[in-house]
Amino acid sequence: AMVATRASDERGTAQKVDVAVVGAGFSGLYLLHRLRKAGFSAVGLDEARDVGGTWYWNRYPGARCDIQTIDYSYTFDPELETAWTWSEKYATQPEILRYLGFVADRYDLRRDIRFKTKVTEARWDEASERWLITTDNGPPVSCRHYIMATGCLSAPKPPEIDGVKDFKGEVYFTGRWPHDGVNLTGKRVAVIGTGSSAIQSIPLIAEQAAHLTVFQRTPNFALPAHNGPAPADRMNLLQSDRAAYREQARQSMAGVPYPQQTVVSWQLSDAERRERFERAWAAGDLVHILTQLWADQAVDLDGNKIVQDLIREKIRAAVKDPETAAALMPDDHPFGAKRPCLDTNYYATYNRPNVTLVNLRKEPIKAITASGISTNGRSFDLDVIVFATGFDAMTGAIRAVHPITGRGGKSLSDVWAQGPQTYLGLTVEGFPNFFMITGPGSPSVLSNMAVSIEQHVDWVVDRLAALRDAGFTTIEPTETAQAGWNRHMADCSMLTLHRLANTWYTGANVPGKVQGLMPYTGGVGPYRSICDEVVSRGMLGFKLT
Ligand code: FAD
Repeated sequence: AMVATRASDERGTAQKVDVAVVGAGFSGLYLLHRLRKAGFSAVGLDEARDVGGTWYWNRYPGARCDIQTIDYSYTFDPELETAWTWSEKYATQPEILRYLGFVADRYDLRRDIRFKTKVTEARWDEASERWLITTDNGPPVSCRHYIMATGCLSAPKPPEIDGVKDFKGEVYFTGRWPHDGVNLTGKRVAVIGTGSSAIQSIPLIAEQAAHLTVFQRTPNFALPAHNGPAPADRMNLLQSDRAAYREQARQSMAGVPYPQQTVVSWQLSDAERRERFERAWAAGDLVHILTQLWADQAVDLDGNKIVQDLIREKIRAAVKDPETAAALMPDDHPFGAKRPCLDTNYYATYNRPNVTLVNLRKEPIKAITASGISTNGRSFDLDVIVFATGFDAMTGAIRAVHPITGRGGKSLSDVWAQGPQTYLGLTVEGFPNFFMITGPGSPSVLSNMAVSIEQHVDWVVDRLAALRDAGFTTIEPTETAQAGWNRHMADCSMLTLHRLANTWYTGANVPGKVQGLMPYTGGVGPYRSICDEVVSRGMLGFKLT
């Protein structure tokens, strides 16, 4: 009774809209634009002070995209495409943030967004068939549809090491970098982690710091970005037929318009393989090297091993000290099974006299102390510790809204106790009118996310409009459809090598997180066809009321 009273009190003062969108990044902005055009009233809610999402929060030195920026862009409006020109093949964080601000201005989106507002709870009210969204700032929101555009990589992982609070120096997280920047000149700096953010920032931090010590648990494969202007061949392809270029991306496996390879490694000679590899290395392009060498590299350990060996050879050549080179060579996962990184001078940075690599596999961290970090062999005096320790990926931001209560008082965290259960990665049984953009069970982080985000947003907004026009109020997947999708997810996961690595794709980076491959490995194009088929077969797998 208490709960009911509170809810009705809140409803009295609640902001009433058709749709609440949590998140004002790439996903939330496009959602607000599409919803408005489709005639829905909507509010955006974001903890941040402005738009941008990922590109608002991640301001560490060297932060960039690692999908070519001409591909990592909105494609829904050809006029927007011609109104904006990227200055580099891989744009920096400030430029991407400016772009998202430009988009927000162009479509006048900020007026519908409540910034500095964190969503704390969400409750489905069966009587009114509406969601009630509680926030930490301002009135709650009562909405027909609740869409979480909260990001796959937006919940930074808390440090797992004792003593962080005892440290007397400065502490930073790459995912929450101060907006005014950080002066590291002349300081003794530690970077903990060697994932993508670390690999991007380490070369720049090393240039500033008096000394940089990198603490590495798992080495990653990194490839040179060869940044510069957008490559002429890609620009020509895009400009000669923009529509066809974008359509090829939408139908591709990874959301970038490259042809599907059919040649397998053993059909090529050593010399042919090396030639392909060297071309890929020189291209400075993750999707190229992940998809264009030979068809078996992503699906077969033998085909993959050849790529691994060729990259390890590059690391050996780049790093002068053999022990450091050996420590930097990944040997516990197939190439591509963990997110590979793009770098600018990463390996060469270890040749600098002011850079030390500590291999935590041999020398684990014992504690963070008042003066620095001690391992079980040494202690390092430090002025600054940078945590580049990654994110509670894919489910972290969704589960941080707690509870999300669906039909019959069911809580999402209970339903997901054994791992995320979804239909199409978009919806959950028992949670009517609830949607996730790039949720677990969708291609999401295994794709160019700009393409995946547009597909999700278009699909969701088109469905909401169709529902409304047909006079329906609620949409929810059936138990059978959800079980079937989970089965299909499991089948697809057997087709690639992602399941063979302990990564943030599988939840292995977060202590206590349920293990299991979270993104859909069937590919962006096939996934799109499935979503379209669900519609063409009369909303197969959904209950509408
Ligand atoms: P986000 O951009 O993460 O936005 C989510 C927003 O939701 C955030 O602003 C957050 O504050 C807000 N939010 C979350 N929970 C709440 C809550 N409870 N209440 C209120 N607000 C909330 N992808 C690529 O495809 N190519 C790349 O090159 C690439 N580079 C990347 C580089 C970095 C450093 C990182 C971290 C990610 C990168 N990604 C890349 C992935 C990137 O996250 C996506 O491409 C895309 O930006 C996601 O957009 P989004 O709107 O879905 O989520």
